[in-house]
Amino acid sequence: MKNIKIKVPATIANLVCGFDILGMAINEPYDEMELRLLESPDIIIRHTDSFNLPEEASKNVAGAVLLKIQTHLNLKNGFEVIIHKNIKPGSGLGSSAASAAGAAFAANHLLGNVLSKEEMVHFAMFGEELASGVRHADNIAPCMYGGIALIKSSDPIDIIPLNTPDLFIAAVHPQVEVKTSDARQILKKNISMKDAIQQWGNIAGLIAGIEKNDLTLIGRSLNDGIVEPVRSILIPQFHEIKTKSLELGALGGGISGSGPSVFMVTEKEEKAHEIARMMKAVYDEIKIESFVYVSEINPSGIEIIE
Ligand code: ADP
Repeated sequence: MKNIKIKVPATIANLVCGFDILGMAINEPYDEMELRLLESPDIIIRHTDSFNLPEEASKNVAGAVLLKIQTHLNLKNGFEVIIHKNIKPGSGLGSSAASAAGAAFAANHLLGNVLSKEEMVHFAMFGEELASGVRHADNIAPCMYGGIALIKSSDPIDIIPLNTPDLFIAAVHPQVEVKTSDARQILKKNISMKDAIQQWGNIAGLIAGIEKNDLTLIGRSLNDGIVEPVRSILIPQFHEIKTKSLELGALGGGISGSGPSVFMVTEKEEKAHEIARMMKAVYDEIKIESFVYVSEINPSGIEIIE
């Protein structure tokens, strides 16, 4: 029967001031997934990685998405899924979104492209609901569309793909656990008009900078006076990493998703490597293991490799 192999990018959600509404796909790290259409209605999930993720269909985000698609389309077929995961779960780099978006994309391809991109996002969001309890699209949309996506609304789905500026990204994933639920719970329930106005200015500046490929405007707009001051307390050495990155010439950056990964954007690739080396050294110093990635923006999202 038909099969497909895909490459699925990691994603950075929020983009500092764009809490819950902006996300960006990056080239490194990425997962690979293989899907095969079955004659039987079974949903079989296998992982070749060592992250110990659940393989029972209803407990794996890829399985949850395929079960929804199967019911919605009244399918007699099932799917066999093999996941080669490199995006570490719980990293804040869109690990769950990659499996969810990859499952929806690959299933749609095997079924003869019966779903629109927005419908694929809709089904993939059920995977995010399983992973974090919230049906959000700020990782799913950039993973599916590539580049930077604005999620103007997730219900009803209204996604605006944006321009891809010429940026490099340095990201670090320190091996500490930040539970998405904790990172959500500590957020303030109310914000002041003064903070809101500043945030609107930053978001508008960021979108304008992205659309004009104005890298200094992007850097000037990557400020967040609402979420980052609260969430950064969950990430060891966050302020040291940020200060040193800016000293080394980063345009700006902040927390990736709900953390603990931190990302910085630069104009030149060499600068991103320099910042990545510094990030690793900061965590080595306090004996926290970390993984660093240097990447460009992934412009096209999920890619078919076979
Ligand atoms: P990230 O921000 O990196 O996506 P999340 O905390 O959102 O991490 O998602 C990870 C959670 O989703 C973990 O609890 C993990 O067990 C669960 N999960 C279930 N299936 C998968 C999968 N296929 N890939 C990644 N995470 C999965």
